[in-house]
Amino acid sequence: MIELNEVTKSYARGAEELQILRGITLHIAEGDFVAIIGPSGSGKSTLMNTIGLLDSPTSGSYTLDGVATEKMSDNGLAELRNRKIGFIFQQFNLLPRLTATENVELPMIYAGIPAKQRREQAQRMLEKLGMGERGHHKPSELSGGQQQRVAIARALAISPSLILADEPTGALDSKTGIEVLELIKELNQQGNTIVLITHDHHIADNAKRVVTLRDGEIISDQRNEMLPTPERKLEGALS
Ligand code: ADP
Ligand code: MG
Repeated sequence: MIELNEVTKSYARGAEELQILRGITLHIAEGDFVAIIGPSGSGKSTLMNTIGLLDSPTSGSYTLDGVATEKMSDNGLAELRNRKIGFIFQQFNLLPRLTATENVELPMIYAGIPAKQRREQAQRMLEKLGMGERGHHKPSELSGGQQQRVAIARALAISPSLILADEPTGALDSKTGIEVLELIKELNQQGNTIVLITHDHHIADNAKRVVTLRDGEIISDQRNEMLPTPERKLEGALS
């Protein structure tokens, strides 16, 4: 689904060139749950923005769902992003003047879905996240955990092929954070492809695959051995 090949990202600082991503090659299959972990400043958000088509690489190639993105126009990229990618952010990024329902409807407006259908789908998504009764509330009337549920409902509204979450539990207390993480795991079990950005090993351990970033380079890429694979589940059942 995601094919990044030798992707670099650099910024000019005076006469100098700051290289933030230094040749990232990363392939992610549909249905996987990948955590990208690294210390602050290692390039995680830059990588997420690249995968999310919010920012383009300086060099290298990025193919999403078979679509080569390098030569696309900004409009084409926006259209692809609105159709395929759901975002979850640390600070929820809900619009404060809109109700929960209206926030969930936003990506469907971008996708050109008619009003009645939008309203019904928003209600369905809020119910899925246990927020069916809260649609008329403004974000400021909701707790952090509730706001993140609304943000997840919004990310799911267009049935994205890919969900990108940048430190989604970073602004939540640990109990609420665990609940949100469980929700994200469930979404993966239902077939959603997830890329989760974090600086926290305990959070990364929930993913099926953990990619470690350091100074703009991938220094390790491992399957999570702790999670039950079908084979291991079977062994467990037989022993
Ligand atoms: P992380 O999310 O891992 O903390 P970031 O991807 O946000 O890392 O940033 C990596 C580095 O790139 C940081 O040193 C940051 O200052 C720098 N950086 C990010 N965006 C820009 C930008 N638009 N211009 C210049 N430098 C940037
Ligand atoms: Mg970051």
